[in-house]
Amino acid sequence: MEPGVGRDQHGSCGLIMRRIHAAVLERRENQRSYAQHRPLAIRQLQLEEPGPGEVLVRITAAGLCHSDLSVIDGNRPRPLPMVLGHESAGIVEQVGDGVDLDIGQQVISVFLPRCEKCEACAKGGKLPCSAGTASNGAGTLLTGARRLALEGQPVHHHLGVSAFADYAVMDARSLIPVGADVPAEVAAVLGCAVLTGGGALRNAAGATGAQDVAIVGLGGVGMAALLVAAGQRSTGRILAVDSNGEKLATALALGADEACTPQSLGQRTAEIVIEAAGHPRAFETALQATGVGGTLVTVGLPAPGAMSSIEPLGLTAGARTIIGSYMGSALPKKDIPYYEQLWRSGKLPVEKLVETRPLAEVNDALDALAEGRSVRQVLLP
Ligand SMILES: [Zn+2]
Ligand SMILES: [Zn+2]
Repeated sequence: MEPGVGRDQHGSCGLIMRRIHAAVLERRENQRSYAQHRPLAIRQLQLEEPGPGEVLVRITAAGLCHSDLSVIDGNRPRPLPMVLGHESAGIVEQVGDGVDLDIGQQVISVFLPRCEKCEACAKGGKLPCSAGTASNGAGTLLTGARRLALEGQPVHHHLGVSAFADYAVMDARSLIPVGADVPAEVAAVLGCAVLTGGGALRNAAGATGAQDVAIVGLGGVGMAALLVAAGQRSTGRILAVDSNGEKLATALALGADEACTPQSLGQRTAEIVIEAAGHPRAFETALQATGVGGTLVTVGLPAPGAMSSIEPLGLTAGARTIIGSYMGSALPKKDIPYYEQLWRSGKLPVEKLVETRPLAEVNDALDALAEGRSVRQVLLP
């Protein structure tokens, strides 16, 4: 859609509204298949112009992530109705007051904006921003605004982004500029899968490339962690662990030295272990794979209340460390340019993880994700 097309004057308040198409979740759905039950409906919505500090983005690509599925199946309950999608690339179309981004600039979204004012933001990337966590929970932009409406009723934003759409309004603090040379489907994946998986490795575990690394759980985040580990390694070996044999083969092709199922892990251990499966049994496997003096970083999001059992003696006697990491313990403004450059140098071939399909196929894509048939599906509006 060209700028200006599909815009109409709204009501007496004089707000400019834009008609957009977006994938809306109106009710939770944990019955499969999603292709049949169609939890996401492509609807025509109204999108308000960006307010101060906000940006209108023309979405060019949006990755489908397990966190989208968790909203649909109720594992991560969010206020509904909501336009999903939180891993995206797009082009700046219009900016509100005080935004330092150029029209036409390629940007990517991050799924937790940083207010840079709260106590958590003062701790570097270690803690999730308190204000961003609150606005994400409320389904608003960081300012508290909601810019989406369906038949005149407000619709919530997913993690400040809502990218399963042709346009989105986001807070500028949810956006990071990326060079025009990075293809949209690559750029999009940098904002969630790579930021989370790579950050678990580099920021939380402090991987330098010299340590042996094991990745447990080879979805988008786990595979991205594996790519980053392979991209920055000097002498370390990489072990990939998943119960899906096809994913193990992919991991070997992407740079893992060894790949095995949890059942065949045996005595294999690594100095750094990343758990990216989001399942309590995977956490136990990851701990089993953590060598003496090693560090386990957990980034998966299991269902609330899911429990793992661990042997504390193994932590004490083996001097092991467990770290929880959200969004790769990242400072996106610092981390994204690193991954962008790593991609440019040919050492982060994210495109090998990506399969593109039209946004209209989003419900079919949910089945492929739930069944582990695809590493990262990127939806094109
Ligand atoms: Zn995600
Ligand atoms: Zn903050």
